[in-house]
Amino acid sequence: MVAWGLCHFVKITLVRQDPMADQRQYSFEFFPPKTDKGVEKLRATREKLGALGPMYFSVTFGAGGSTRDRTFETVTEIKAAGYAAAPHLSCIGSTRANIADILDQYAAHGIDRIVALRGDMPSGMVEAGEFRHANELVAFIREHSGGQFHIEVAAYPEFHPQASKPEKDLANFAAKVKAGADGAITQYFYNPDAYFRFVDDCHKLGVDIPIVPGIMPITNHSQLARFSDACGAEIPRWIRRRLEGFGDDVTAIRAFGTDVVTALCERLLEKGAPGLHFYTMNQSEATLGIWNNLALSS
Ligand code: FAD
Repeated sequence: MVAWGLCHFVKITLVRQDPMADQRQYSFEFFPPKTDKGVEKLRATREKLGALGPMYFSVTFGAGGSTRDRTFETVTEIKAAGYAAAPHLSCIGSTRANIADILDQYAAHGIDRIVALRGDMPSGMVEAGEFRHANELVAFIREHSGGQFHIEVAAYPEFHPQASKPEKDLANFAAKVKAGADGAITQYFYNPDAYFRFVDDCHKLGVDIPIVPGIMPITNHSQLARFSDACGAEIPRWIRRRLEGFGDDVTAIRAFGTDVVTALCERLLEKGAPGLHFYTMNQSEATLGIWNNLALSS
């Protein structure tokens, strides 16, 4: 126990003395809340995480009209509260005209960063929209808005579930960068080697934008398993088996999850990741636990 504590302390010291540390970008992702209670809760989460001085908060984007309006409302409220905010935008159900309109509205509100995605077609929806892939959306944002927005795109260290071959997925990622992306945020993963190899392969293709690891805190086993099945992120067997073993013991799951994800973040930062993007699920506790372990604020 003492030896582990000592080892942990040494690792944290390494992160804190890293000369790259102040160039790293830390960001937190929210989804637009659906209820008044959710809005209130998000405000409290925003203030707790905002105290950490993130580069920006990002807000996800859904396919339906009302979800889209909530993204806009959430983003403009974050901005009005004095923080940088980055809306996600997706191709699904979008036309050139409505993307142009929303870009103009964001520009008018002083928003200067967009996360550009293809999105996933909700079941029952038949209209894909005018853009088939994220590279087309990125190209359109550049065509319409020039250099007004810093554009982030999605990256998949364990590869996108629909990709026929890793090489094709990498080439498609490179195409998004060529279309005008400035940076990328990854799908979450618990295998850091997948990330390091992905970044190396990108460098070999001449892609040298910052690729920021997406970090999913572990707080709920069944929810994590469901998400991971849908998005193709692997939960390594040893993590899955431990989580199964905890059953409904939420305290044990959270303590284990904080340890595992802290160790993942330490490894990523030590080996040169340009920052961390936390999928907060609109909660502050799990992200704060990892943040404090990493001693990032001091
Ligand atoms: P693309 O880059 O278009 O890739 C999708 C698939 O098509 C891949 O298999 C790729 O290899 C292939 N492909 C790409 N370009 C081409 C091409 N030109 N020709 C042929 N094949 C191609 N979803 C939401 O609905 N809303 C959100 O707010 C949201 N936020 C996200 C944030 C992050 C950081 C991440 C990682 C994902 C997010 N997603 C979101 C999920 C995302 O929309 C899905 O993973 C979606 O399936 C793919 O989106 P993409 O932008 O990566 O698509």
